[in-house]
Amino acid sequence: MSSLRKKAVMAALAAALLAGPGVAQAAPQAAPVPGERAAAATITWTLVRASNPTQDQQTAYNLITAAMNAAVARYNNLSDLGKNITVRYEPGVPTADGNINGTIRFGNRSYMNERTALHEIAHTIGVGTSSGWSRLGGGGTWTGAQATALVRQYDGSSAKISTGGGHFWPYGLNYDNEYSGTAADRHVRIVAAMVSDGL
Ligand SMILES: [Zn+2]
Repeated sequence: MSSLRKKAVMAALAAALLAGPGVAQAAPQAAPVPGERAAAATITWTLVRASNPTQDQQTAYNLITAAMNAAVARYNNLSDLGKNITVRYEPGVPTADGNINGTIRFGNRSYMNERTALHEIAHTIGVGTSSGWSRLGGGGTWTGAQATALVRQYDGSSAKISTGGGHFWPYGLNYDNEYSGTAADRHVRIVAAMVSDGL
């Protein structure tokens, strides 16, 4: 075999070897499955603090931190939802509120608890605040299939999620007397199902 021919054979052999394992790598990547999330996202939060907080501010910061840590941990344990949330203490806010831009404001001390934090996180994700909410929840009953299936799993085959005033129930955690560990878990799972529905 001439050296030139030998080189050609070796090149062909190398190409054949490369083609083996290379086939899988060269194949087009599998198309994403519709409705499947690409990767688990995370909810994060930060508290805007005064540089030299008063006693009132420091007390509020402590309560807000405990409430938000508990609520965000519950979300991250039970859902793949993602949001970067900025939290402020504003004594002029009568209760608390949450905006889809990612801002939560706490005012009144009695609302600095996990129940309220979960409820306001839901507003930052779209409950009562998004175009998807208006489309799927604007008529007084949530019409998305996944969240509806979930509430039926919890409460029976005739259960539904009612909507109004930017809120939902059951499991909307609209008042402190709705809170329990089970209700809080179901709240998060329903909000996640609403997102899957198109919230
Ligand atoms: Zn609300």
